[in-house]
Amino acid sequence: MDAERVVAELVDDVEGGILGSAGGRFFGWVVGGSLPAALAADWLTAAWDQNAAMYTCAPAAAIAEEVAGEWLKEILGLPAQASFALVSGCQMAHSTCLAAARHALLAKRGWDVERQGLYGAPPIRILSSDQMHGTFERAVRFLGLGREHIIDLPVDSQGRLRGGALQQALRSDPSSPTIVLLQAGDVNTGTYDEFERLIPIAHEHGAWVHVDGAFGLWAAASPTYRHLVRGVSTADSWATDGHKWLNVPYDCGYAFVVDSESHRASLSHRAPYLTHDSGARDEMDWNPEWSRRARGFPTYAALRQLGRNGVAELVDRCCRHAHSLTTRIGSLPGAELVWEPVINQGLVRFPDSSPEASAEDHDRRTDEVIAAILSTGEAFFGGTTWRGRRAMRISVCSWRTSDDDVDRVVNAVAQLSGSL
Ligand SMILES: *Cc1c(COP(=O)(O)O)cnc(C)c1O
Repeated sequence: MDAERVVAELVDDVEGGILGSAGGRFFGWVVGGSLPAALAADWLTAAWDQNAAMYTCAPAAAIAEEVAGEWLKEILGLPAQASFALVSGCQMAHSTCLAAARHALLAKRGWDVERQGLYGAPPIRILSSDQMHGTFERAVRFLGLGREHIIDLPVDSQGRLRGGALQQALRSDPSSPTIVLLQAGDVNTGTYDEFERLIPIAHEHGAWVHVDGAFGLWAAASPTYRHLVRGVSTADSWATDGHKWLNVPYDCGYAFVVDSESHRASLSHRAPYLTHDSGARDEMDWNPEWSRRARGFPTYAALRQLGRNGVAELVDRCCRHAHSLTTRIGSLPGAELVWEPVINQGLVRFPDSSPEASAEDHDRRTDEVIAAILSTGEAFFGGTTWRGRRAMRISVCSWRTSDDDVDRVVNAVAQLSGSL
C-alpha cells in the first residue's frame, strides 16, 4: 500500500479509540503530557533511528543521555557519583536497581549471583509497607527474588512506614540480606516515607534502601516541596519516571544507583564483535536492554525547555491545581473530600444521600458519578479503592493544565452532581 494512504487510514481507523491523556483535563492514573520540545525531540529520535546501545553505534545519543543523566541527578538532588540508566519506565528502573542490589548484597556474602544464579543463594528479604506499588512486586518476580520474600510492614495514619516496625523486622533476622523499599509519593495520596528517620535505621542493619519515586521524587526539584524528600539522597537507589511529571513522551524512566560498581556488574556485557570507546559511556553497561531507543534526546529537550526553575514551577503548578480541584470538588453538594493533596494527588467521593445508604451504596454512587463525568467528555478521572472505600482519584501531572481547565472541570462536575 501507499505509505500516505496507510497513515491516513490509520488516523481514520483509530477514531474514537484515542484517549485524551495528553490534554490538560486528564486526571486519570498518573499520566503526564508531552512538552513541545520533548515531543519534537522524540519525533527526531524516531526519524534518526539510532541504536543507543553504545557510543560507537550512536555517539550523539550516548552524549545526550550522559548529559541528561547528570542534569537529572542535579535537579533531583541525588549524589553526583551515582550511576544511572534511562529505561522504559519506573518498573524497569526498579528492575535495574534491584539487579544492582541483588548483586551487592550477595557479593558481600561471597555469592556471585551473575555466575551462580539464585540456586542455593541466601534468600534476600524485602521489607516494604503494605502500600507498595505493584510494579515493584513485578520487578521482584522478574528477578527471581520471589513475592513471598516481600514482608509487608504496617503504616501509620498518614500511610508512612512505621520506624518501630522497620527496626523490629531488621532486628528479628540481622544476618539476612535485606532490601528496604521506601516510597516517595504514594500512588493514591502522594504520601512520603520519613527518609531522614528510616534510612539510617536500615543502614545500621546493612540493608539496601531503594526508593520508589515514580512521580513523587520530583518534589525535590521544587523549593516549596523539597522538604518532603529530606534525607532521600542517602538511599542506595532510586527509580522515577520521565513520562509522568517531567512530561516526556512514553516510554521513559530513570534508575539511579550509588554503588555504580554493583550496577555495572549486574548489567554490563562485552562481546567480540562490539567496539567500545574507552573514553565514552556505553548505555549497555547500565541498561537491561541491548538495542534501544535513543531515550536521552527527549529528556535532554524537556530539561532544556524548562530549565531548573521551569521544572520547579511545573511541580508547584500541578500541586496547586490538584489542591484546587480536590478541595473545590470535595466541597460541592453531594461530594466529600477524602484526601487533601500533599502534592499532586487527591481523593474525593460521592456518597449516596439517602438516609439508609450503606457503604456499598456510597461506593456505587461514587463509581456512577465518575462514569457520568467521563461521559460528558469534559474531564477524565479514575476510581480507586482506598482504605476499603471507593474514591475518585485526582492526579495532576500535565504541563497543559491551566486555571481555566480547573474552573471548567469544577463547573462541569458541579452541574452534573446537581442534576444527578
Ligand atoms: C506509575 C508508577 C510506577 C510505575 O511506573 P511505570 O513507568 O508505569 O513503569 C511505580 N510506582 C509508582 C508510585 C507509580 O505511580
